[in-house]
Amino acid sequence: MQSQPQRVSGRAVGAVMFIAAVTITLVWIVVRVFFTLHPDEPTPDGSSSRTSAPSSQRTIGTPFDHVVVLSIDGLRPDAVSDAVRRGCPGFSALLKGPNTLNARTDPDITVTLPNHVGMVTGRLMKGPQGHNWLPNAMPETIAEGGTLHAAHGAYVPSMWDVAHDHGLMTALIASKGKFILFDNSYREEQGRPDATGADDGTRKIDLVGFALRGEGVARKAMAFLDDAAAQGRRSLSFIHFTDTDVTGHVRTWDMTPGSSYLACVDRMDALVDGLIRHIDANPALRGRTAIVMTADHGGGAPAGSHTVADSPLNFTIPFAVWTGDGAAGDLYALSPMRARPAAHERMTATGGLPIRNADAGNCALWLLGLPSIPTSTVGAEQDLLAGWSRRAS
Ligand SMILES: [Zn+2]
Repeated sequence: MQSQPQRVSGRAVGAVMFIAAVTITLVWIVVRVFFTLHPDEPTPDGSSSRTSAPSSQRTIGTPFDHVVVLSIDGLRPDAVSDAVRRGCPGFSALLKGPNTLNARTDPDITVTLPNHVGMVTGRLMKGPQGHNWLPNAMPETIAEGGTLHAAHGAYVPSMWDVAHDHGLMTALIASKGKFILFDNSYREEQGRPDATGADDGTRKIDLVGFALRGEGVARKAMAFLDDAAAQGRRSLSFIHFTDTDVTGHVRTWDMTPGSSYLACVDRMDALVDGLIRHIDANPALRGRTAIVMTADHGGGAPAGSHTVADSPLNFTIPFAVWTGDGAAGDLYALSPMRARPAAHERMTATGGLPIRNADAGNCALWLLGLPSIPTSTVGAEQDLLAGWSRRAS
């Protein structure tokens, strides 16, 4: 009789242990399934993949509805000032906004593709959060690793991600085939899910277009702007004129009057003038559109190229913000957190904070009233133009 309670007690303990084991197993399975469906592991940058951009320290009073980021390949700042001196209307108009002719490329490289990656991602090539994109040739296929994410080892968000996730229309119109890198990186299968507001999808660039010459690029850019305006949509476009670079490689970056390079600069000036006239002629664009113009590199070191990264001829570039209201200003004076380099000072990544072409993306987003690119490092505080305010229209 004495053993009966002990047997019952033993059975009860066994049942409790069995139920506990089943419960623990079920909880473990549920937890595993949840985290498999909701991956949120830290990226190599040390930040969560869901970390949002640092919040803007100040917002623009009246955001623009359209921003065009214009890169003129191999455009030297002394060629811009030369054109303005000769009365060329396009660059003269651009310099009626905040600008500097003393901006900098990536501190470590002065060739096309790595610097354009910097412009659209707000990162330098090297460093802990560097984009790591070194090749300047046609990228490999996606399957072979020809995306920015494969090169970096984690998803690299772009200015198109931020704009598209906020519902804007986006475009890339370029004149070198290797820019397919951006389509590779931000098409449906590669783009990151939209975690902001309504789901605008994983394809971050609505329109990807190519044209061999600047004239074709400008035509497509104007059609895109008209289309966005006609649909009542806001937009961010990135457009690229390659002509000055091609001429520089064939005929050198020759600054003597009447040279082929300067004649090409004049052609680019006419395209800029045409773009501005087009914007001003469309009531849905006029007063609502800004242009951020910069270059991937200068040129002339060596004479027919721009590969010497420590040559001022190559690392000195223009950076101009056309706002349509004629409020010209020195971009360094208007951006007090930036250090103005001496004329021939390269400014390495550890040597102060100049204005770089890699500022273009976050500057464009700020002009649109949008936050900066998540995990970006150049202009992530959107401090460019901190001393500037938009005139009431
Ligand atoms: Zn080149």
